[in-house]
Amino acid sequence: MPRTTTSKPDLPASHADFPTLHVSTHPAVQHKLALLRNAVTEPKKFRELVREISWLVGYEALADARLRSISVHTPLEKMQGHELADRIGLVPILRAGLGMVDAMLELMPTAQVWHLGLFRDERTLRPVEYYNKLPNSTTVDLCLILDPMLATGGSATAAIEVLKRWGAERIKLVNLIAAPEGVHAVQAAHPDVPIYTAALDRQLNEKGYILPGLGDAGDRQFGTGRSD
Ligand code: URA
Repeated sequence: MPRTTTSKPDLPASHADFPTLHVSTHPAVQHKLALLRNAVTEPKKFRELVREISWLVGYEALADARLRSISVHTPLEKMQGHELADRIGLVPILRAGLGMVDAMLELMPTAQVWHLGLFRDERTLRPVEYYNKLPNSTTVDLCLILDPMLATGGSATAAIEVLKRWGAERIKLVNLIAAPEGVHAVQAAHPDVPIYTAALDRQLNEKGYILPGLGDAGDRQFGTGRSD
């Protein structure tokens, strides 16, 4: 039987309802995403894939970072080149966002990293802040919030509120998988914050997990949550 080949993945119809959402359609991202979702993918491979997909989605999220002109001497002549003008802050949401940091630092080696600890209360599904390592005043131009899963949007909106109170003016959210419920919540509360993701999935289940999703992104990276 011939294998079906498609050049671009299908996006759910609701994608058009989300003007601030950017879903990567890059074939490399979609290929790696299928491996990431697979329940038999072991933590080591899972971490590698989180890093690789983060790099690719992060690359797309940074496409409009600001530049300034600099003069460069090549071995042959002098020319005008560019360097990054935006000071970038990376805000990984603990703990699952940690796996996205190295990839983003490869892309933007001078970025500052501030950890924000938010856990989801499993009863209320609301975020609870338990760790905040932001400096006293804002020292960057663009903040990227890193969290593999955008589920209810509770942690993302809480993180955006923390950053806005702190003085951040340009904020982007970088995820690997988003649920429509989470995108809707972030977009309604913060229409000025673009969302970059590798996939927009179908829905949340009653426990707040994304379907089809990949399970618990923290457990799968760090090998926790397995009873066997
Ligand atoms: N967080 C996860 O790790 N996975 C989900 O499906 C939802 C939230």
